Amino acid sequence: MSQASVTLPIHQTSHRGLFDGSEGYGGDDEPSGDQEDKPPESRYSPLPHSSKHLSGFCHALPGLSPTFPENERSQQFRSRHYPDVTAQQWNDWRWQLKNRIHRLEDLQRLFYLTPEELNAFRRGEPKLPMALTPYYASLMDPENGTDPLRRTHIPVGGERVVTPQELIDPLGEEDRTVVPGLVHRYPDRVLLMATKQCATYCRYCTRSRMVGTQPQEKIQGFRQHWRQAVDHIAGDNRIRDVVISGGDPLTLGDEELGVLLQRLAEIPHVEILRIGTKVPMVLPMRITPALAALLSRFKSLWINIHCTHPDELTPEASVALGRLADAGLPLGAQTVLLAGINDDAQTLKRLYHGLLRHRVRPYYLYQCDPIPGSSHFRTPVTKGLEIIKQLRGFTSGLAIPSFVIDAPDNGGKIPLLPGMPLNREEGDLLLTNYQGRTCRYPDGVTGDSPST
Ligand code: SF4
Repeated sequence: MSQASVTLPIHQTSHRGLFDGSEGYGGDDEPSGDQEDKPPESRYSPLPHSSKHLSGFCHALPGLSPTFPENERSQQFRSRHYPDVTAQQWNDWRWQLKNRIHRLEDLQRLFYLTPEELNAFRRGEPKLPMALTPYYASLMDPENGTDPLRRTHIPVGGERVVTPQELIDPLGEEDRTVVPGLVHRYPDRVLLMATKQCATYCRYCTRSRMVGTQPQEKIQGFRQHWRQAVDHIAGDNRIRDVVISGGDPLTLGDEELGVLLQRLAEIPHVEILRIGTKVPMVLPMRITPALAALLSRFKSLWINIHCTHPDELTPEASVALGRLADAGLPLGAQTVLLAGINDDAQTLKRLYHGLLRHRVRPYYLYQCDPIPGSSHFRTPVTKGLEIIKQLRGFTSGLAIPSFVIDAPDNGGKIPLLPGMPLNREEGDLLLTNYQGRTCRYPDGVTGDSPST
């Protein structure tokens, strides 16, 4: 292992407190014209080494339109519920974050809540924080509790039902955390949780134990741990692939994000960087021309977008994805299979075809992780296999992701194929991981292997 060490300067930048009562923020998108001229490095375009100069790179790429659309449904929602808010404010990602909906009374102002939804608040706040951008809320049906986007983000009483198989940290990430916020599970790649904040909170989140939970001072402390993470990566020359997730890294300001990416890109043995984000679906106005230009500087940077349902593919999301693709960033999509939301082949086919039209390659379809209170979301594993079977041959291979279980207890991702034998024991599915180790997934389905 190389003992090389990279020092990450953590700048106390302009934290604007866009997340109410939580994380500070340094989102300066404005071009300053203050651009440092450095010779090109081997794989990455030059970026300044000091974050104070970074905004000099945050100008738009030529050809990227600065204007942003607003779909008809969102327009109606805005004029009804936010009559004083201009289209310009609405399309400002900072305004969207600052005005997130996270209280019961806000929900009641916007939606006719079902008894199941009201149940979620009956004994106080739900454990997993709730937050919706006004934009994402505008895509939901205010009168229909079965609306797919609404079901993924508005809590229901079922969240309070915890079954014995469910775990706070189902993937065993805490056991493989080598320094705060850095999970080293596979030899050649690591997961860096850059922030604990997301634009919105998915009710089935694997990291529900940590996202959006810390008060401001602790989150500022967490940000300091980037230095330790970068030092660990720099000190282990087996690591060639860094996944930056969270929380959602695209909720960071351009300046902070740019500094983190730059420091990682400077490590000689790091070949690729990957960002996992749901922002293009829930806060598409965050994908500004300046952000696209910043990301385009990193030539081996991949963006994996968390998508759930074709209803997310709005004109706004279309522009956001187009900006990323036009900036030359390879785009993939990850989807969690969710009962009653997207667990049928037609819905997923619509989603995958839509993503491909936007130059996003469906990458993983995940079996839902058994976090506490997730039983109402989880489907039997056979459901995912049936869906893949219904897609194969009926659409192009490009539109078919790998169906995987992220096995509990550090098993890693295990792909599942229609027709493969499924071994079960006491209600658990027995799976063999990449190391040949047997892992158990609490499928809750007993009996013989299905015909899939
Ligand atoms: S965006 Fe990702 S990290 Fe954030 S709540 Fe959703 S699943 Fe969890």
